[in-house]
Amino acid sequence: MLAKISTLALKGIDGFAVSAEVYIASGLPAYAIVGLPDAAVKEAKERVVAAVRNSGFDFPLKRITVNLAPAEKKKAGTHLDLPIALGVLAACGKFGKKPAARLEDSFFIGELALDGSLRPVAGVLPMLLALKGLKKNVVVPDGNAAEAAVSGVNCLAASDLKQVAAWISGKGELNACCPAAVPEVAGFVQDFSEVKGQAFAKRALEIAAAGFHNVIMVGPPGSGKSMLAKRFGALLPAMGLDESIETTKLYSVSGLACAGRLVRERPFREPHHTISDAALIGGGSIPRPGEVSLAHNGVLFLDEFPEFSRPAIEALREPLEACKVTVSRVRESVVYPARFLLLAAMNPCPCGYLGHPVRECACTPLQVHKYRAKVSGPILDRIDLHVQLSPVQYADWEALPKGEPSAAISARVIKAIKIQCARFGGREDRGNASMSAGELRRHCALPEGASAVLEVAMNKLGFSARSLDKILKISRTIADLEGAAAIKREHVIEAVQYRLLDKSEALADI
Ligand SMILES: [Zn+2]
Repeated sequence: MLAKISTLALKGIDGFAVSAEVYIASGLPAYAIVGLPDAAVKEAKERVVAAVRNSGFDFPLKRITVNLAPAEKKKAGTHLDLPIALGVLAACGKFGKKPAARLEDSFFIGELALDGSLRPVAGVLPMLLALKGLKKNVVVPDGNAAEAAVSGVNCLAASDLKQVAAWISGKGELNACCPAAVPEVAGFVQDFSEVKGQAFAKRALEIAAAGFHNVIMVGPPGSGKSMLAKRFGALLPAMGLDESIETTKLYSVSGLACAGRLVRERPFREPHHTISDAALIGGGSIPRPGEVSLAHNGVLFLDEFPEFSRPAIEALREPLEACKVTVSRVRESVVYPARFLLLAAMNPCPCGYLGHPVRECACTPLQVHKYRAKVSGPILDRIDLHVQLSPVQYADWEALPKGEPSAAISARVIKAIKIQCARFGGREDRGNASMSAGELRRHCALPEGASAVLEVAMNKLGFSARSLDKILKISRTIADLEGAAAIKREHVIEAVQYRLLDKSEALADI
C-alpha cells in the first residue's frame, strides 16, 4: 500500500513542502530511503523502527520504500522522522483503508526518540513560514510549540508518536501552540554615560550607527575600545517586525531558537579571533549560518582584528559587499543573509603601545608593518570610519564629566535614520553607507569651498579617489544627524578626520 504524508524541509532559511511517500510491498524485509536524504535522514530508519514498536504498533517486516519528493532537492535534518513513521503506519492500514482527513490535511514535523516521544528540531519557524496563508494544520513537537506559534500558522503540539496517531484517528485532540510569554526587555545595562572622555570616538560611533557605516577603532590596550563597542548596540533603533523575523529565522536554522520567541534585540556578535573561517562566514558539511549571518541586522564586533586568520578576513568581503553569504556544496548552494555593521578594533602595533604617552613600544618597524598589512587593501576599503583612540590618563579621567547617555545619542541617530529611510524610498534596510555611485552623485552635492578641502586631503594627505567617496558618504550622514538638507563645508572637514588609515603614511603619526 502507498501512503503520502506532507512535511517540510529547508533550503538556507527558506522552507519548502516535502511529500514523504511510503510504499510497502511484500517480499524480503528491506527498508530504503531515497530522494537525496542526508546522513541524519538516513539514520531516521533506525529511530523510526524503534519508535513505532515502542509506541505499541507493529513494524511491518516487508519491503519498505520511502521517497522524499521533490526528489531533486536535498533534505537534511531529523525532523522527517515523524512523517516517515506516520507514512509507515498509514501504508500498513493503521488509519483505515481510506486516508484519514486529518492525515491528508496536515503537515508533520518532529524528531523521534527511540521510545516514541517527540524531540524539538531546528528550523521550525522558517519551515512554517513557507505555509503562511495556506490554512493547513501543522503538528510539531511540544518543545517547538512556542517558536511555531510565532509563525501565525495553525500549529498543534504533540509529545509523542502515540498521541499524534490517536489524533489522526480522531481518538484524541492536540493542543494548539501558544506563544511564549514575552519577558520584560531589560534594555541595555551598559550606558555610554559611563565612558568618560573619548569624545571623538563616541562621535564616530554615533555617525556609524546613523548611516550604518562600518568602523575600525585603533588604539592601545585600555583605551576603551571594548567598552565603547559593548555600548554601541544601544545606539541603534529597535528592529522592525520583518527584520526581526528574518534574524529569528537564522537563529532557528542554527538551533538557537531563543526560547521560542522572536529575536527583538539587534544581535551583537563578538567571535574570538581564533574562530575558523567556516564558523565566521558559514558552512560546514551540513551548511549552517556563520557569525556574519547571526549578526544579521545587528553588529559584528571583531576585537584584535589583525589577529583573525587571513582567509577569515578575506572571506568577509562577500558579506560586506553583498549583505549575504553563499555557501557552496556539491549539489547545491545555500544563501544566508548577512547585513551587519562591522565594528573592528585593533592595536596600533603588535605590542599595543606604539604612540603611547608613557609606555614604550617594543616592536620593530617590520613587525608593525606586517601587523597592519593584515587589514590593508580590500577589507579596509569597505570600512568607512577609522577612529584613533588615545589612552586616558587617570588624573584626566577623574576630572572628566560623565558622558552623554545612550538614549540622547540614540534619539539623534533615529532621526537621521528616518531621513535616510525617506531618501531610499521607505527602505529601512538602507543606510548612507550603502549608496551606489549614482546615488552619491544625486544626494551628495558638494558645497562651495568643499572641493578645496578634498584637494588638500588628496594632495597633502595622499587620499585615494576611492576614499573621496567614503568622505562624501560620511559627510551625508553628518548632515543628516544635523537635519541639514545639503552637505556643508564643515561636514566635509569633519568627515576627512575619520579616514586616518588612508593617509599615505598610514598610521605613521599614531
Ligand atoms: Zn609595539
